[in-house]
Amino acid sequence: MAARSDVVVIGAGAAGMMCALRAGQRGRSVVVLDHARAPGEKIRISGGGRCNFTNIHTSPKSFLSGNPHFCKSALARFTAQDFIAMVERHKIAWHEKTLGQLFCDVSAKDIIRMLLDEMRAAAVELRLGAQVEAIERSAGEFVIRTESGAITARSLVIATGGKSIPKMGATGFAYRIAEQFGLPLVEPRPGLVPLTLDPVLLERLAPLSGIAVPAEIRHGRTSFREALLFTHRGLSGPAILQISSYWREGDDIALVIEPDVDFLSVLKSARQHNGRQAVQTVLGEHLPKRLAQYIAEAHGFAGHLADMSDKVLAKVVAAIQSWAIRPAGSEGYRTAEVTLGGIDTAALDQKTMQAKDVPGLYFIGECVDVTGWLGGYNFQWAWSSGYAAGEAV
Ligand code: FAD
Repeated sequence: MAARSDVVVIGAGAAGMMCALRAGQRGRSVVVLDHARAPGEKIRISGGGRCNFTNIHTSPKSFLSGNPHFCKSALARFTAQDFIAMVERHKIAWHEKTLGQLFCDVSAKDIIRMLLDEMRAAAVELRLGAQVEAIERSAGEFVIRTESGAITARSLVIATGGKSIPKMGATGFAYRIAEQFGLPLVEPRPGLVPLTLDPVLLERLAPLSGIAVPAEIRHGRTSFREALLFTHRGLSGPAILQISSYWREGDDIALVIEPDVDFLSVLKSARQHNGRQAVQTVLGEHLPKRLAQYIAEAHGFAGHLADMSDKVLAKVVAAIQSWAIRPAGSEGYRTAEVTLGGIDTAALDQKTMQAKDVPGLYFIGECVDVTGWLGGYNFQWAWSSGYAAGEAV
């Protein structure tokens, strides 16, 4: 005889735990199953161990989705402020780092502890190391078969995340369940991921490996101003991770290094006041020395500034602020912070996250085709979509 519960949540990550605690608070009996040995492993490693748990500028425009309106309802009903209030109730100290990104002062583990405490208070049962073998549906109920027996539930919530970082237990399980129940998928792909370069370009840029600079990275009409990092594999840093979610194979990206510096004025003024300087000396006052040297040498800007025409100075500026690069690819799911695509939002109800054609089946968090920018937006989606389902199950 199968055990019974009102709700089974598969996945004890950010979205699953939020959903479970809210459903438990509403008096539902809830069992959470996770194949991992510990809950919230991605929370634990997030934000360099301090968890960038939300962003105070959260709005639908910071999310990518086949339907940009889908996320509005859930984000409006459980906001960044609602999550901050929970964090404060648990006396977790936090700070804003930059661009509205909120981090724990001490440790991401505080967020996991908070969610576990709330789950315990709401009498949620958490089963770790639980392998789900099969899911069946009969007479309007779900039978979830695990190694240690079956559980029957009227509501089944899939919160197993995306494919990113398989080393940490990411499985693509949600996509298989969606397929089993006939829900469409938007092709998953790695997002918030470093971009790689072809071997020839990589060798040319090898002298820059390790350099970080403020930059604006553009792809079509989308652009981000954050740090750019040259690596031994290609390009990384927040600006690249952001643009990677928009970039597609074969596309170019544009790099504007130090977009706030008016290099033409800088160079003209230096030419007027001290024309015996070399270009790289002047550039070195505004750029890392190695990058200044690279710009001068790779483009052959030798000699004194005094001997350089306005046209040549414009070429120097272009060499700094008009890069067009065609990445060869991305580092893939191995290092991607998120998975783009996923369960097609057309198949889900935006208020409840319930599958329109399969009553009682819910999908929340990263497995859904809603992906945030870097900066706490993805956790906010996990909290908001988890809460929406927790209110409905
Ligand atoms: P997850 O957190 O991935 O949880 C899924 C859960 O399901 C896991 O516990 C997993 O063990 C379980 N599971 C998977 N398959 C199965 C299965 N077959 N059976 C049973 N259980 C299963 N976002 C931010 O907003 N801020 C950050 O600072 C941030 N930092 C990040 C740093 C890194 C290195 C990475 C990889 C991601 C980061 N993210 C960050 C993204 C964020 O972690 C995710 O968007 C978020 O965790 C998604 O929540 P989720 O609950 O949908 O999925």
